[in-house]
Amino acid sequence: MKALAVYPEEKDLRLVSIPEPRLDSPEQVLIHPLEVGICGTDRDIVSFEFGTPPQGLEYLVLGHETIGEVVEVGRNVEGFRKGDLVVPTVRRPCPDPSCIPCQTHQSDMCFTGRFTERGIRSASGYLTELIVDHPAFLARIPRELRSVAVLVEPLTVTEKALKELDEVQSRLPWQCPPGTPGGRYGCRSALVLGAGPVGFLAAISLTHLGMKTYLASRNPPDDPKIQVLLDAGIGYFCSAVKTPQEIAAAIGNIDIIFEAAGSSQLSFEYLPVLGINGIYIMTGVPGPGNRVTIDGDDVMRRLVLNNQVILGVVNANIDAFRRAVHHLALLSEQYPETVQALISTRAPMEDFSQYLTQKRRGEIKTVLTL
Ligand code: BGC
Repeated sequence: MKALAVYPEEKDLRLVSIPEPRLDSPEQVLIHPLEVGICGTDRDIVSFEFGTPPQGLEYLVLGHETIGEVVEVGRNVEGFRKGDLVVPTVRRPCPDPSCIPCQTHQSDMCFTGRFTERGIRSASGYLTELIVDHPAFLARIPRELRSVAVLVEPLTVTEKALKELDEVQSRLPWQCPPGTPGGRYGCRSALVLGAGPVGFLAAISLTHLGMKTYLASRNPPDDPKIQVLLDAGIGYFCSAVKTPQEIAAAIGNIDIIFEAAGSSQLSFEYLPVLGINGIYIMTGVPGPGNRVTIDGDDVMRRLVLNNQVILGVVNANIDAFRRAVHHLALLSEQYPETVQALISTRAPMEDFSQYLTQKRRGEIKTVLTL
């Protein structure tokens, strides 16, 4: 069967023919991936900065954001049937029996660092015709979400962050008084950094919660994708022409900064404008080698005197995937056009070379179809 694979040693990316997998235990499920989203991590892998083949293989099958259809189930599998739509998780448990998170379905919190990630690290990905998986790592997708479910994986980043946000902020009276316009988060303001899929999904989720939500990125305001934000009621600032201080002056106390740009330079430029009792959530994974200079005294003074928190979040466990499915259904109901518009390009997997190596103007999420 065909697969899109990187060969890190040869520094090559190509369509290859690999053996079809089979169910080798009655607990497994065979899935045909239908669509696979491309993200910054994939682009880092195809430029050979990142990505490790499974042990014993010289290639890594790419792709970790997918929606697939179940084509066969092992005889002991309960709860899944042929024809079901599913989204598999990415991070998988490490083999250490003393790693409590990995033993309790929270491999996103693995202590040993020996976890694997499908399509990224020591495990095959989803840009291929058939994959085998275990039901414990599959979120079921309702039929009506078929056309947008490839967004579940990037949405899990927000999903996990929102849960932790609520847990951390329960340290203070975080919810707004009854009667606040916008509901219990209506008095809170959020600033999202970065106009990629994670940034868009975070901004839509935060605005859906009732927060006054803004997004800042370098994209010019006439980039067609910025209109998608404005249509959903999200404010926009072009960070190429406005400083963080000017943006903060326009917003007021910034309760949340949600970083989804993957740039340490940009992230630390915005740290000084985080508000009182604010939380700074970082989700981007920058490439190596960018040194930033920060005023350490100022950062420390602000963190302490303003009760601020900096939180790093990586995706995600099966619970976050299940919550993301539920949440995507709500977002699709309230913002149907916005959610559809997030998938800016669909192209057959065979055309990968045009889409994988560089970003195009107006691109939000590019999806390869199988
Ligand atoms: C994936 C995560 C992964 C991270 C680093 C992201 O694109 O969504 O699952 O942990 O890359 O490998």
